[in-house]
Amino acid sequence: KESECSFCRVVVIGETGVGKSALAGIFAGARDSMDNNCNLFGDDTYERTLVVDGERATIIVLDTWANQDEGSWSQEQCMQAGDAYLIVYSITDRASFEKASELRIQLRKTRQSEDIPIILVGNKCDLVRRRQVSVTEGRACAVVLDCKFIETSAAVHHNVQEMFEGIVRQVRLRRDSK
Ligand code: GDP
Ligand code: MG
Repeated sequence: KESECSFCRVVVIGETGVGKSALAGIFAGARDSMDNNCNLFGDDTYERTLVVDGERATIIVLDTWANQDEGSWSQEQCMQAGDAYLIVYSITDRASFEKASELRIQLRKTRQSEDIPIILVGNKCDLVRRRQVSVTEGRACAVVLDCKFIETSAAVHHNVQEMFEGIVRQVRLRRDSK
């Protein structure tokens, strides 16, 4: 039923090269019986309806962060546009991990009074021998930044579905508590 559909805009942010587009692409390309994949708004936005905990949720994923072409979204607009955020770093790149913290702080400044669902995402966890950021550090950082944490691999599709389900649950928790 249409009335059971929740709807939310998830913005993917993070340093260049960490795997934002790879993660968004898996979301866009994943097939299931509910699949509703269409590019409504352009090349870097994807809409799908998922079933999470038996309830439908329509998500629009915006992979608009890096694309600073004319006519695209500014980073300021991205900071304003999301109902929820995936802040992505690469576990093989410490600088991208530090950038993730900066982005969290920037988001807090931009959306001061709001309690926005955020997941800190350590991507490329398949690259075990190139790891520069431990799981413990990632998890501790998420506690400090007051957000959820998950490690993913877009390359081997590890935890990618779980990440999108997780953000839906975070959005619902906040809506249900209002
Ligand atoms: P973006 O700049 O954040 O959008 O990053 P991309 O999605 O373009 O990915 C940058 C590079 O990292 C590409 O060569 C991807 O194939 C690679 N990549 C992305 N995710 C993973 C991952 O989970 N594991 C590995 N090994 N490579 C990845
Ligand atoms: Mg990209």
